Amino acid sequence: MDRTGEDPLLAVEDLQTVFHTDKETIRAVDGVSFDVHPGETVGIVGESGSGKSVTARSILGLIEEPGVVEAGSIRFRGDELTGGNWDAHRGDLAIVFQDPINSMNPVYTVGNQIREALRIHQDLRGTAAREEAVRLLEAVGIPDAPRRVDEYPHQFSGGMRQRAVIAMALACDPDLLVCDEPTTALDVTIQAQILDLLEELQAEEDLAILFITHDMGVIEETTDRVNVMYAGEIVETAPIDRLFESPKHPYTRGLLASIPGRTARDERLPTIEGEVPTPTEEATACRFADRCAESFDACERVHPGHVTVGPDHSAACLLHEQEYEPELGDDGDGPGGAR
Ligand code: SF4
Repeated sequence: MDRTGEDPLLAVEDLQTVFHTDKETIRAVDGVSFDVHPGETVGIVGESGSGKSVTARSILGLIEEPGVVEAGSIRFRGDELTGGNWDAHRGDLAIVFQDPINSMNPVYTVGNQIREALRIHQDLRGTAAREEAVRLLEAVGIPDAPRRVDEYPHQFSGGMRQRAVIAMALACDPDLLVCDEPTTALDVTIQAQILDLLEELQAEEDLAILFITHDMGVIEETTDRVNVMYAGEIVETAPIDRLFESPKHPYTRGLLASIPGRTARDERLPTIEGEVPTPTEEATACRFADRCAESFDACERVHPGHVTVGPDHSAACLLHEQEYEPELGDDGDGPGGAR
């Protein structure tokens, strides 16, 4: 969808979130920029340690010491959130974490917890709050919701608990739902159900979703646009179809090759050797160089910036410098992507 000219709901620009320890400073998010537009689903994908969850927490104002959002801008509906201004938009952004059991308080009923969110964010109380809690549980597919609203989290299965957590998030009446690995703790069948549910809710509630995951298969199913993250940086951004048809960054190609079903049946699933490095210094080279099968001399000396590699598609890799000449009518590196 061409969103040229539309104002983004969320605009993240040159975000830097660091963790100061006695020994070193970890640059967990190091110059990340991207937009999310109303009603859009944007993905951030990368291995564990890439900085994607720290990006999500930074956006929600959930970074705790020794971490700090040190520089950059996070604007929601044009309002700057950094510098302690999250409270003005507290209910407009909600998050669903990976593990539903840690997202709920075991000593309160599910209904109590949803009603508390309704009281804080929508000023609903009493019968109206109870009715809305039941409606939300029904909306997320909990059967027999009028009875189950009075049950405790331990009485719900893992999949049902994650549905209840999504209902709690919706009770905030958010415009942007940040989903941080929301299906990773669930088995494959339940995972598919939760992804379908999020898609339905997005259409019904007119939500924008920022989807954080390590799983390219989940990204393919859920997102309109994807940002591939590695060692604190976005290394490639594109609309989902373009990324899967024509990945440009060697790291993206490695992630795609590791999706089951994309390799011939008798071949072993390829993996990317090595681990994501922890960025502690300002980048002066490509952070992927040690693991990259296509690296060459300059990769050890030059930190690649983003270059346009196709319409609305950019990658931070020296292989693609000056490769793409935009044609008349191309929308270039337009809104929604890493900037
Ligand atoms: S800049 Fe070099 S090392 Fe980095 S991804 Fe591109 S080819 Fe590989």
